[in-house]
Amino acid sequence: MQRKNKKIQTAKGMHDILPPESERILAFFDIAKELAQNFGFNYIETPIIEEADLFIRTVGKETDIVNKEMFYLQGKKYVLRPEGTAPVVRAYIENGLFTLPQPQRFFYFGKMFRKEKPQKLRFREHHQFGIEILGSEDPFYDVFIINFFSELFKKIKLNVTFFVNSIGCSSCRNKIKDKIKLFYKSYVSNLCEDCKRRYKLNPLRLLDCKKDVEIAKSAPEIVDFLCDDCKEHFENVLDYLDESKISYQIQNNIVRGLDYYNRTVFEIFVENEELALGGGGRYDDLSLFLGKKKIGGVGGAVGVERILSLWQNYKKEENAIGIVTIGFQARNYMLKVINEVVNNGFRVIDAFGKGSLKQQLDYINSLKLKYCLLAGEVEVKEEKVIFKNFENGIQEEIYLKFLSKELKRKIK
Ligand SMILES: [Zn+2]
Ligand SMILES: [Zn+2]
Repeated sequence: MQRKNKKIQTAKGMHDILPPESERILAFFDIAKELAQNFGFNYIETPIIEEADLFIRTVGKETDIVNKEMFYLQGKKYVLRPEGTAPVVRAYIENGLFTLPQPQRFFYFGKMFRKEKPQKLRFREHHQFGIEILGSEDPFYDVFIINFFSELFKKIKLNVTFFVNSIGCSSCRNKIKDKIKLFYKSYVSNLCEDCKRRYKLNPLRLLDCKKDVEIAKSAPEIVDFLCDDCKEHFENVLDYLDESKISYQIQNNIVRGLDYYNRTVFEIFVENEELALGGGGRYDDLSLFLGKKKIGGVGGAVGVERILSLWQNYKKEENAIGIVTIGFQARNYMLKVINEVVNNGFRVIDAFGKGSLKQQLDYINSLKLKYCLLAGEVEVKEEKVIFKNFENGIQEEIYLKFLSKELKRKIK
């Protein structure tokens, strides 16, 4: 007796990304990559698996990421990375990139993981595109990062606003936390369970609670309690932002929550949408948590799935050329033709195996292609192909040796 094989499926919360969605992800990456390279960023790739301690020490114990969302492997030593910044800083330190001319600029694109119950647009496995500038504490680079995302969203025609704030540095943060706690003291018993914990361990996060919104509205403004250096840094950031005409608002409830942030933090919102498309900030102390000297750093990342859910105006231009073959001898010849077409930057879709000439043409038509190339016995012998334009019905012969020139002329 044979046991039935258990059906094998994607792991819980994971999903396949199929065409055309997969093509849209690549299209977004192409745009973001080109822009990042033009702004002087270099591609960096870090492993998907990191030591859990990297995030526990830098992102912080009292964060949702570490508390609720880490995807542990091998006991608890390793995790699937939940975010991209800490790994880039680890790589920068581990590979001695501080010995190169500073600052160093990086961009990355890859999968991040969070092990929580999947919700709408909060997937266990998702893509982020991020940029980081390491080796400078200059506020110019805070705006350089924000400006990059501003240009990126212009390119894909999404109107966004940047919510910015400063959460101070290690020397003024304690005073800020005390002020916040003092304000919340009389409300503690009415706060949600998370906030009761935050009150003790991570009071800045009281401000961004999604449940206790009303109380947060009358909380003291963090920026009023910044030390002089932090105040000057933030004013510089705002000056640059004003000058660059980037749409922004100062928001007291933008605190980002992760331990490694200091001074400037920001999140990116589309009008009328509650979910942030991304965010970032400065993290000059992150390297200290890894036992190294202080390294100025600032960066940001966007969630690709969230952007794609709003990026409806993207449509792929289908300029593929159909390939139709008459008779068996023409098949090998057609491979030669396909090479010629592909090497000139066109995409091909063949109708091999679709049957008669009519069936092949029907198939090409069903894909709504505008052009196709045909060859049979005669064309093979004469080293030609037939070019058919479905839009105007014109059909003509082209010698193979002129094919690349003719395709460029005919298809624009
Ligand atoms: Zn400060
Ligand atoms: Zn709360």
